[in-house]
Parts: sequence; C-alpha cells; structure tokens
Amino acid sequence: MAEGSCPCGSGASFEMCCKPYLGGQAIPKTAEALMRSRYSAYVQENIPYLKQTLWPKYQDRFDGAATAKWAAENHWAGLTVLTVDKGGETDRDGAVLFEARYLSGGQLSKHRELSRFRKKAGRWYYVEALPE
Ligand SMILES: [Zn+2]
Repeated sequence: MAEGSCPCGSGASFEMCCKPYLGGQAIPKTAEALMRSRYSAYVQENIPYLKQTLWPKYQDRFDGAATAKWAAENHWAGLTVLTVDKGGETDRDGAVLFEARYLSGGQLSKHRELSRFRKKAGRWYYVEALPE
C-alpha cells in the first residue's frame, strides 16, 4: 500500500477518501462508501465511528470493548468489495458483499460478509450481516 493511500483500498488518498467520514466532516453518500469507511475505522480502531454508523436501534447493544479488542488484535491486510446491490445515492437500502483480510496470530484470515445497509434521515447505516 502506498504511503498515504486509504486503508479501504480505493486507490485514493486517505484524505480524499475515508478520512472526512471518520472525522465527521462528511457523510458517505453510498452504502459502499459507508462500508469502506467502516473498514478504515477498524484499521484505525475508531470505535466511536463504528457505533455511530450502526443502525440506531442496535447501538444500545453495541459492545465497544469487544469491538476495540477485536480491531486491535488483528492486523488488517486489505479489503475487496465483491458485489454491490443498490445502495446508491437515491436508494434507501443496499447490500455489499465484501472480503476483509487480516492477520490473526500469524495466520491470514478472511472475513467475508454480505452486509445490509439502510438509509435514515439522509444517512447510511450498517444494519446486519445477511445470509449469502
Ligand atoms: Zn477509503
């Protein structure tokens, strides 16, 4: 990965990609952009962002300590977005199939997930993992 490039693997610089989302200066316009920014938040261990972008009804049961531990224990090695279903600027729902690679205890592992996203009051949120 080139110096300064975004952890999400978009090819853009961090400043031009996920940083404004993580810092609260901008709101992701698509489900994919939100998904990518959540991956970058894991890389950067930005736990508050992971909570803020979770579907509001589910935020109460968000386990910040467990999420922080998981994010810190793994060395994130890359993200590939496999398919995107809706989730565009004019949609209210979307699904993104992705694969996140990480090193855990010296082993390269993959987390593959079909994530469901929904928009509420102009903001995209991560809702849940769907069966593929
Ligand atoms: Zn990014």
